[in-house]
Parts: sequence; structure tokens; C-alpha cells
Amino acid sequence: MENKSKIVSPGEKLGVIEEYMPGSNTYEDDGKVISSVAGKVVLDAQSRKVGVSPAKVAPVPEVGDVVEGIVTSVREENAQVKIVGIRGKRLLSGDFSAQLHVSQAAKGYVKSMFDAVNLNDRILAKVTTSWAPYQLSTAEEEMGVIFATCTKCGEPLLLKGGRLYCKRDNIYEKKKVSRHYLLSGD
Ligand SMILES: [Zn+2]
Repeated sequence: MENKSKIVSPGEKLGVIEEYMPGSNTYEDDGKVISSVAGKVVLDAQSRKVGVSPAKVAPVPEVGDVVEGIVTSVREENAQVKIVGIRGKRLLSGDFSAQLHVSQAAKGYVKSMFDAVNLNDRILAKVTTSWAPYQLSTAEEEMGVIFATCTKCGEPLLLKGGRLYCKRDNIYEKKKVSRHYLLSGD
């Protein structure tokens, strides 16, 4: 019991009742203190209590999940995306890297990934594989870019007539835009 950061599984013996009092997330069984959860052993020397701090189980992306991500790099054929949230699940504690292939960017033919997303764009996407690097699709109407800034001036782009528009430069940028784009210019 010297190692206080020891990780235990449910049902694992933490000590005997002569040594320790059962603390949080533990129970006594036949003179033994047993962990009822998976987590880290917490030992209180003063009260001679042994407890377990439950391990936080981070949700992982699953097929069909709608995720929010940030584009971290773009090449002709695919984009790298950092998943920052999963809709309907708790916020992620870790980072998940994902990929968007040009063939999955839109329903129709997209020649280059640069016509669909750009660096630092925030996107909504659907997860299509259950292993890392997760494959994404933005083909559906709901999916695609939900926030982007102008590649020339850095101003947030506005959704105008279904396309993304920079007021300052008076230009449109070609993207696969989601129906849920955050800023309207109409
Ligand atoms: Zn601009």
C-alpha cells in the first residue's frame, strides 16, 4: 500500500480491516477492504482509511457520432482534423486525431480538399470508422465548415447565399459549408 497512485480494478483487495478502514468506493468483505470501482488508490494515513478515486472514462468517437473538429492541416487529398468535442457526450479530455478524405468532403465531386476546408476551420463531421485515426465525412448537408476566417485578412467569414463571404475583402471563399454555420451575412 506504499504506492498511493496505484490503479486498481473493481473487486481488487486494498488491504485488511486491521490495517485500514473502508473509504469511498470500497466495501468490506470477510475482513478485507475491496475496491468497488476502477481507479486510483487514495490512502489517508491519519484516519487509516483506504478509498478509491474513480477513473474518469473519457468517451471515444464511435461510428455515426457527430463531432466538432478543427482542421490542423490540409493537402490536396485529405485534411487532418483534431476532434474537440462529440455531440451528446461529455467533452473530451484527450485529443483525437481524425482524417477527412476528399472523397468524403461533399456529396458531389470535390477536386481538391482546398475547395472544401482550410487550415483552422471549425467543422462538424460524422465519424465513419471506430479506430484512430478516425475517418470523417462532411458529405451530409448538416456537416461541413461551421466557422472560418478569411485566408487574406483573418476576419470571420459570413454565410451569404450559401457561400462564405468576407466583408472586408469583398470575396467569397469556396468551402463545404454546414447548414449550422455560425455567422450569417444574409
Ligand atoms: Zn478578408
